[in-house]
Amino acid sequence: MWITFCLHLCCYVDSGEAQNAKEVILLDSKAQQTELEWISYPPNGWEEISGLDENYTPIRTYQVCQVMEPNQNNWLRTNWIEKGNAQRIFVELKFTLRDCNSLPGVVGTCKETFNLYYQETDSEVGRSLRENQYVKIDTIAADESFTQGDLGERKMKLNTEVRIIGPLSRRGFYLAFQDVGACIALVSVKVYYKKCWSIIENLATFPDTVTGSEFSSLVEVEGMCVSDAEEEADNSPKMHCSAEGEWLVPIGKCICKAGFHQKGDACEPCGRGFYKSSSQDLQCSRCPAHSFNDREGSWRCDCEDGYYRALSDPPSVACTRPPSAPQNLVYNINQTTVSLEWSPPADTGGRNDVTYRVICRRCSWEPEECVPCGPNVGYSPAQSGLVDTYVTIMDLLAHANYTFEVEAVNGVSDLSRTQRLFAAVSIATGQAAPSQVSEVIKEKVQQRSIQLSWQEPQQPNGVITEYEIKYYEKDQKDRIYSTVRSKSTSATVNNLKPSTAYVFQIRAFTEAGYGTYGPRLEITTKEEATGRGLHIVYRSMNKSIFHDYCCRHCGYSKADQEGDEELYFQFKFPGTKTYIDPETYEDPNRAVHQFAKELDASCIKIERVIGAGEFGEVCSGRLKLPGKRDVSVAIKTLKVGYTEKQRRDFLCEASIMGQFDHPNVVHLEGVVTRGKPVMIVIEYMENGSLDAFLRKHDGQFTVIQLVGMLRGIAAGMRYLSDMGYVHRDLAARNILVNSNLVCKVSDFGLSRVIDDDPEAVYTTTGGKIPVRWTAPEAIQYRKFTSASDVWSYGIVMWEVMSYGERPYWDMSNQDVIKAIEEGYRLPAPMDCPPGLHQLMLDCWQKDRAERPKFDQIVGILDKMIRNPNTLKTPVGTCTSTPDFTAFCSVGEWLEAIKMERYRDNFTAAGYSSLESVARMSIEDVMSLGITLVGHQKKIMSSIQTMRAQMLHLHGTGVQV
Ligand code: AMP
Repeated sequence: MWITFCLHLCCYVDSGEAQNAKEVILLDSKAQQTELEWISYPPNGWEEISGLDENYTPIRTYQVCQVMEPNQNNWLRTNWIEKGNAQRIFVELKFTLRDCNSLPGVVGTCKETFNLYYQETDSEVGRSLRENQYVKIDTIAADESFTQGDLGERKMKLNTEVRIIGPLSRRGFYLAFQDVGACIALVSVKVYYKKCWSIIENLATFPDTVTGSEFSSLVEVEGMCVSDAEEEADNSPKMHCSAEGEWLVPIGKCICKAGFHQKGDACEPCGRGFYKSSSQDLQCSRCPAHSFNDREGSWRCDCEDGYYRALSDPPSVACTRPPSAPQNLVYNINQTTVSLEWSPPADTGGRNDVTYRVICRRCSWEPEECVPCGPNVGYSPAQSGLVDTYVTIMDLLAHANYTFEVEAVNGVSDLSRTQRLFAAVSIATGQAAPSQVSEVIKEKVQQRSIQLSWQEPQQPNGVITEYEIKYYEKDQKDRIYSTVRSKSTSATVNNLKPSTAYVFQIRAFTEAGYGTYGPRLEITTKEEATGRGLHIVYRSMNKSIFHDYCCRHCGYSKADQEGDEELYFQFKFPGTKTYIDPETYEDPNRAVHQFAKELDASCIKIERVIGAGEFGEVCSGRLKLPGKRDVSVAIKTLKVGYTEKQRRDFLCEASIMGQFDHPNVVHLEGVVTRGKPVMIVIEYMENGSLDAFLRKHDGQFTVIQLVGMLRGIAAGMRYLSDMGYVHRDLAARNILVNSNLVCKVSDFGLSRVIDDDPEAVYTTTGGKIPVRWTAPEAIQYRKFTSASDVWSYGIVMWEVMSYGERPYWDMSNQDVIKAIEEGYRLPAPMDCPPGLHQLMLDCWQKDRAERPKFDQIVGILDKMIRNPNTLKTPVGTCTSTPDFTAFCSVGEWLEAIKMERYRDNFTAAGYSSLESVARMSIEDVMSLGITLVGHQKKIMSSIQTMRAQMLHLHGTGVQV
């Protein structure tokens, strides 16, 4: 029996859900209005019927209801379904199924399920249907079957079942429905697969992607960046398509390229006046200062004219320009070393990488003719890349003109084509010692002599007046150095031992002093032949030994040495050569020629008279030796009508001076004894004697300059004392100053030194003595030593620091002797650093053994020069040193020490006379109401000086 039921009359509930966006429909029976034409077998089984769905849209359905007949096997097969890319197919069945209980007389035959099958094929396989080729998917039962109601109305329930098949491997498949005796209406069959639809995520496009074959599988998909975007480094965009057709787990991303920024799912160009330098930046930024752009999509902005960007500058920083010139360039020159210091430029160009570079040019006197200084000049800390605002330039040529340009540079200086801005100074260098002697050649080697020649130093830095050849026996344990001097670039060293290895070193000498020794040269003399020559060497010895020796060997000595250009000394290392008293020579002429070079009068040009000496006029002039540049000289002449004694005394100075060789000791050029007038030719010291020079330039030097002068004098004295020479008349008037402020000790003589000195007076112990400069033991018992020279040096210090003030002012010599004996010492001159006054006081120790040695003095002064802070004068510690005897009133005195503001305080307290003031103690001063400590000290210090002067001038009974 056929039970039919009309679907279009049926009322069933369909969710009517819209097509799921993730699904791709392969078959939808509802969508087809024409006949489905599926295969039904046997023909009386499944039947295709037209109907209307809930929306009254016509649909095609298949029904079967052979519930009364046993052994039903009705097959319905769809048309071939091409699966495309799908691997996992969803089959959604909508059907109604009649409850067997609601059908009368069907017990045993009525079923309430049907079976679902599929068959995979690569193509359509015709319309025959073979059961065994089908694979069962499932038995489908109704969730809800329906019954015929009592009232005859049909309540049908629509069942929806979804089954999944896969993975599928063939191109397509068929579905088959097997009915075994149920009453079914197959309302719709929908076959679909799922896919993830193309989307843009994180600026990457992900294409349509079919889901994987397994429920749990995720398909990884690579994204493609949208236009003007790029993959983030090491982070390419990926997503995963789930089996449900959903995009999951986004990884990585794309970012907008430089010049573009993100707007929604796209990258848009930066607008004009904006830039984005990197894909990493999120936003476009406005152009930084001093830059612009007038196009869209820029990754950077261009600099305005005159502004630049250094290679290392990121596009985000402002454009900058080169700095302006350094300011306040100052220099300091020390012989051939120049120190420059400056302040930073006013405009750094907007950068903080300003460094400095120095350009050195050596110029002829015409400013146009300057050449680069070249690689021989040294720069400390460096020539360029200077971070600090100072540099020292070394190894310049002496007496040369230089221009130094200091330029401030920053990271864009090299990009700029505008004119360089710099600060410049032109400087003339001073003296420097010559550079090393090079290329020493052994010209002739004999048993007892070796002849050497060499090249002038590359940088003589002046006129080379002499070379010194130092040598010693290589294998001698107790190393004894000998020296030979030569005026030319060759010399023969005599008196050597045969078959003996000697080591030679040579250095050059100019008025700036000795250069450094050149490299050592070892030479072995030839083997001894027969006989021995005469061998005369003056050994290091004290004067009396020398005297004996000299007298016994005068004959040889004279014959051997007179007229020779070379002078021979031998001394023990590390000692210096010893001064030889010319008085020990029986023949003073020989002494002169031993130590002084005889000059040809025709080489000397006298120009003008500059002073008067004891023996005659002192002139200035020029000396032109053959093959040498002419040099300025002072020429001391011996007046006509001299006695033999006067001649001897006159030349004695040359005999002494000729033994010395030091930059701080006046240098003897030579003598003229074989013509008239007899002359002593000395290096010219442009600024004359130190005392007059200081008085002329009162207050014009810095403390460092004054200490520099003192250092020079001390170095000269150290040299003289090392040689065993005691000066006896060291005083500022006997120091000469050259144009470079170099001070040199001068005025050498023996008895005549003192005779010559207008300051020298006869003392009770006999002989003339310059009392104010002389140590007490030398005044009292003529104990002249280097220690007494140190006392005099202390006085010279005081003279220098007070710009040539007379020591002990107008005190009489007798009062000075008395005051010193009683312990009085000169107070510190005005503005004198306490350290220097202390050094003076040390030089004036009563016990001469307590006084510093010249070597120590040089060391102390060097330290002060190196640490100029030690030379700062604390306010109020220095006293002025007026002569208090010159004041008539307390008011005048206070005015002189610039303390006149306390005049009323003194008057009110009853201090009306200088005598009463001289008795004041510090408590008295304080009781006047003077509260400033600096002023108390200044007044007290002045009172002490006043007290000392009064004590020694008037013998007043003031207690010191
Ligand atoms: P003296 O006889 O050495 O005391 O010299 C007398 C004066 O001549 C000195 O006070 C100086 O002014 C001057 N005088 C001496 N030697 C030189 C020199 N080498 N250079 C310049 N002036 C000198």
